[in-house]
Amino acid sequence: MKIYDVAFIGMGASALATAKLNYEGTSHSLIGIDKEYYNKRNNFFAFWMTDWMENFSNLAQKKWFNWEFYLANECILHETKDLPYCTIRFQDWKKYCLDNLENLSIKTLNVQSISNLEKYFEIELENGERVFAKKIYDSRTPKLEENKVKQHFFGYLIDTKQVIDNKKVTLMDFRVDQNVGLHFMYCLPISENKVLVESTVFSSEIQADSWYKDQIKKYIETKLKMSEYTIVDEEKGALPMYDIRNKSYKNYINIGSRGGATKISTGYAFSFFLKNLLRQNDDSEKKHHSYFDQWMDKVFVNYLKNNNGTEKTFINMANSLNGNEFASFMMGISGTTTKLKVIMSMPKYKFIKSALGTIIN
Ligand SMILES: Cc1cc2nc3c(=O)[nH]c(=O)nc-3n(C[C@H](O)[C@H](O)[C@H](O)COP(=O)(O)OP(=O)(O)OC[C@H]3O[C@@H](n4cnc5c(N)ncnc54)[C@H](O)[C@@H]3O)c2cc1C
Repeated sequence: MKIYDVAFIGMGASALATAKLNYEGTSHSLIGIDKEYYNKRNNFFAFWMTDWMENFSNLAQKKWFNWEFYLANECILHETKDLPYCTIRFQDWKKYCLDNLENLSIKTLNVQSISNLEKYFEIELENGERVFAKKIYDSRTPKLEENKVKQHFFGYLIDTKQVIDNKKVTLMDFRVDQNVGLHFMYCLPISENKVLVESTVFSSEIQADSWYKDQIKKYIETKLKMSEYTIVDEEKGALPMYDIRNKSYKNYINIGSRGGATKISTGYAFSFFLKNLLRQNDDSEKKHHSYFDQWMDKVFVNYLKNNNGTEKTFINMANSLNGNEFASFMMGISGTTTKLKVIMSMPKYKFIKSALGTIIN
């Protein structure tokens, strides 16, 4: 009976990162188990270029030093010299992580259950097969809770003959239908002719794909003023806007979204699990986000959940910060002044009510 040193349950972004950063060049026997391992997924992972993300700078397809927010006739532009917005695509990430990982075997099956047999773990696969490993990194997608607020989105990567201004990202454009929840468009211009246009909603109810597709088509026509374009790829997702708590213990470690890497107010997770991996020299459970950031995020989500017309708050917040302050706040590295500016940009009475709500719940 073969007992692997390490098993990765799920071989998505965080498992690939863990294999690369913790086990490259070691003699450990590794196994990755994921039914979707060979699928064509190629989503974009966006982040601001903090010091720890410099390690992956060469993989960033493009860097943007400007980003914008829109609401009705208002447009707020942020500029930065220090913390550009960047993206890495999943397939580039996968290729980078697998390079030099010769001791990794792959099984393309779903995991049904994991049992702790004291000295090692038994992993049962969907076909009844059993795999054994001394240590487990579990990144199985956390189940979404029906009644809780989620960030759900659908995006088209489009190719057009029209020339696009590819120097600026549109982070949030609220000039769209607000009937099903807080809704905005996100536009990531990859080149002069390619742009990712994503319809994103914060609400508990996920819409049918056709809803986001209609929204995107309308937006491309009316706001981007493009009549001819080809859809070359698509991505979609639904991310929890609430705490994900899965307990890790010795030799069984939850990682990625399952391990609590998602910043619940924004859905960003990629840079946070990388920060943890790069900064920890053992596998003990470490928080991805500071207590203060977690609390602020909860207050913010509480506020979004209980109020309408919250798009104005995002605009106020963007207006109160410059590019560097905004980027540092998003990446969890902001100073006290920036945090205070964010708090002051929120409606006072509703902020206090939401803050009290986090204590009661
Ligand atoms: C489309 C999309 C875009 C995103 N964009 C960004 C972004 O721009 N910036 C950012 O910071 N974050 C982003 N995120 C959030 C987050 O960074 C990603 O979700 C990231 O992939 C999380 O990594 P992970 O390893 O936790 O999960 P995943 O990458 O989803 O990996 C989990 C893996 O587990 C496998 N799996 C699930 N169940 C089982 C099972 N029972 N047995 C075996 N395998 C199983 C799945 O097939 C999957 O491959 C995005 C998420 C999505 C979905």
